Amino acid sequence: MKVLIAGGGPAGSLAALNIAESGSAENLEKNIEITIVEEHASAGFPVQCGGLISEDCFIKLRRFVSDRSRLNNIKGAFFFSPDGNYVEAVGRSGAVVVERKVLDTELLMAASEYSEIRVKTKLVSFNGEKARLEGVKTEYLSYDVLIGADGVASTVAKLAAFPHPSYFSAVQMEIAFEPLDERFVELYFGRSYSDGFFAYSIPVDCDTARIGVVSKQNPEYYLKNLITKHPSVSERVKRKITELNAGAIPVGLIDFVKGNIALIGDAAGMVKPYTGGGIYYHLIAAERLGKHFPNLEEYQKSYKKELGKEYDVGIKIAKLYSLLDDEDYNYLVKVGKEIDFSELHMDRPSGVLNLVPSILKIASKPSLIKKMARAFFRSFKSSYP
Ligand SMILES: Cc1cc2nc3c(=O)[nH]c(=O)nc-3n(C[C@H](O)[C@H](O)[C@H](O)COP(=O)(O)OP(=O)(O)OC[C@H]3O[C@@H](n4cnc5c(N)ncnc54)[C@H](O)[C@@H]3O)c2cc1C
Repeated sequence: MKVLIAGGGPAGSLAALNIAESGSAENLEKNIEITIVEEHASAGFPVQCGGLISEDCFIKLRRFVSDRSRLNNIKGAFFFSPDGNYVEAVGRSGAVVVERKVLDTELLMAASEYSEIRVKTKLVSFNGEKARLEGVKTEYLSYDVLIGADGVASTVAKLAAFPHPSYFSAVQMEIAFEPLDERFVELYFGRSYSDGFFAYSIPVDCDTARIGVVSKQNPEYYLKNLITKHPSVSERVKRKITELNAGAIPVGLIDFVKGNIALIGDAAGMVKPYTGGGIYYHLIAAERLGKHFPNLEEYQKSYKKELGKEYDVGIKIAKLYSLLDDEDYNYLVKVGKEIDFSELHMDRPSGVLNLVPSILKIASKPSLIKKMARAFFRSFKSSYP
């Protein structure tokens, strides 16, 4: 059986590794041949990532990669309100800041043990059993299963007429910065710093951070506001930029299987709707794909079953970003000091549901309670099995 994977990013490499490894005796019988085509000369370029993943996610990835991509260990987060106050949250899992160029390269190298890798090769079209590849020369490769791991602007998704997820825009710079604590990421809320999402800084070490904005529109404008006007950030940012990148973040999982084609990663909208982080969800998807391969329908079903509730809650949290105004954030951070965050896990937002009653108990601002009820409780019905 011939498997063609378009895209040598984390989703493509993890898909190859899991297809090859899972039930490998069975797969050997099926004589699975995997080819990954990657349009660029290497993986992880251009970088479009803060590199923040949970410690649990990194431990799972360590099955395939070394520790070399680890840049920093993170203990928790500071949630900043627009007035510059903040509350500390330390949850159930720590996090790791990784260098994506290293992580992606190591994942692709691990995948190369089981697959043929063709770099500088772009998939440009396909007809159900054969794909046209353009690289040094044009060639046609036959396949039984096609996996679209070709990112947010997926050619596979477009040509096979999969629905489009909607997108947020993101811009990020690596810049000289004094974090309050290099073991804590900082999240900045408020209407001056994002339209409908939030801004962040992820410390790489004690004097550098990745500072970015995710927003429905115009993230450059909000990033400029953040570094020039935010009462806390503007005091700590130094003007030495070492890297600048921009990208799109898909929001909303789509149906990602059609016949002998399956999508994985950003191509399928597999991103946490409340943070924009994708790697953990890609990892879970690849595990499910490997487990059920070549039954693609079962891959889709079991992924939705595993993460459906997390998507539901994640979407509700993301909805709240649009509903809350600066006054609400100032108030929430003030009362947030009384909230126990210790059971929260950054990959599993459903834990937030347990906090809602305690927030409602200490919050005595009727307009805020109304907004929270609107986001969380109105028609709380899962769209996933
Ligand atoms: C600013 C920003 C910050 C982020 N921060 C984080 C974070 O801190 N933590 C986190 O978990 N996630 C983060 N994300 C999300 C994360 O970067 C993505 O979810 C992840 O990179 C998607 O992986 P992927 O393999 O699906 O796609 P990609 O990483 O985009 O890889 C797709 C690959 O396919 C190749 N390709 C595309 N088209 C073709 C084609 N036709 N033929 C052959 N090859 C092709 C591309 O060259 C690319 O190498 C962030 C995103 C942005 C934009």
